[in-house]
Amino acid sequence: THSWDRETIQLVLNLMPKETVLFIADVRINFDTFRNGMTATVNSKTIITVNPDTREASLLFNYVKEAAETGVLEEEEKPEDMPGSITDVYTVNQLKQKALDVPELFFGVIYSFISKFDVDSSVSKVIRTRCTKCKYQVSDDLQSCTNDLCPGRGQGLSAATGFDLFVDLSDHTGTLQGCSLRSPVAEKMLDCTVKEFTSMTDDERTDLKWKYLLERCKIYVKIFPPSKMRTGVKGIILGCSLADPGEVKYLQKH
Ligand SMILES: [Zn+2]
Repeated sequence: THSWDRETIQLVLNLMPKETVLFIADVRINFDTFRNGMTATVNSKTIITVNPDTREASLLFNYVKEAAETGVLEEEEKPEDMPGSITDVYTVNQLKQKALDVPELFFGVIYSFISKFDVDSSVSKVIRTRCTKCKYQVSDDLQSCTNDLCPGRGQGLSAATGFDLFVDLSDHTGTLQGCSLRSPVAEKMLDCTVKEFTSMTDDERTDLKWKYLLERCKIYVKIFPPSKMRTGVKGIILGCSLADPGEVKYLQKH
């Protein structure tokens, strides 16, 4: 190996995925049949700048930071995300502790109360529209995505509107704040579509809120540990229903 290879390998090993912006000049781009995608090869002329002080780099950094905090990029449907396969039961404190001890995402079930559930606040805090290409929040009357880094920029806007709110989950051990509750999980839980929700009266939304607020629920979550981009543990709700009292009693005894 060449010295630049060793230097590059050392550099890359020290980078955290989704936390560093790289500006790379002079690389060879080839199609790699083994990986079935484009790959970049460095050589002696390649210059790699970590977190360059440019407008593009700061836009990219802010975009990834926002995406990390909301968890929007972590949500591609994967078969292992199906609640049926999630069986490990935790308390809120156990979830938080595991996220700190094991720095990788995991799944779990908690029987907890929904201690913050603002479905009766302004609709803009419950329903959001995002560009389908980059998940950036946009307003659906726009002609194109407002994210400068969107891969679909310049093309017509392709956007999806859905439930997109934050809820707090509490039990006797603590509270997990700001868990993401989004479509299609929210539709199933609330038993109403986005369209039905937007045409509800304030009273109907308040009823919907009290159907779940402070009720014990069985909640399937996907948990992300804290990272440089995200302070605190992040939870994404994959399924939520009112808990069966018999099931809760059984758990408390065992
Ligand atoms: Zn976009």
